[in-house]
Amino acid sequence: MNIETKTHTALHIVKGAIVKVLGPEAKWSTSASIDGAHGRIAVEYPRKPTDQQLEEIQQKVNQKITEDAEIETYTMTRKEAEERWGDWIYDKFPLPESIQTVTIFHLPDWNVNACIKKHTRTTGEVGKIHITKTRYRNSKQVLEVSYDIE
Ligand SMILES: [Zn+2]
Repeated sequence: MNIETKTHTALHIVKGAIVKVLGPEAKWSTSASIDGAHGRIAVEYPRKPTDQQLEEIQQKVNQKITEDAEIETYTMTRKEAEERWGDWIYDKFPLPESIQTVTIFHLPDWNVNACIKKHTRTTGEVGKIHITKTRYRNSKQVLEVSYDIE
């Protein structure tokens, strides 16, 4: 399997863990990038997380990988998706109005996102995710989380 498919799927797993630990205040992703086995996601958050919270994010990531949970994808109208999940399907900058059919990544009780990229079938297929660095940017109120997959 393509390494970037795993690294990309890991973005959704890490994002879900961030929101589980920090709550809905951390729901808006401002950026995400991958390069080979490295990934980085940034979310809005109004304060610096504690070391304990950051540790807990790594634990939740591990737990979701171990669960080997099945990833669901749906294609549906934007209206249907919004009725089911509200603005949780979006990142910081919503899709253009012209897009009326969306592909939804859904990891039940973890992460939902309008995303057209390729994903693994289960969380276990990603392998291990190591959070290598976290950085809180006070001026932007943004938390950046970098990871490697193995
Ligand atoms: Zn995706």
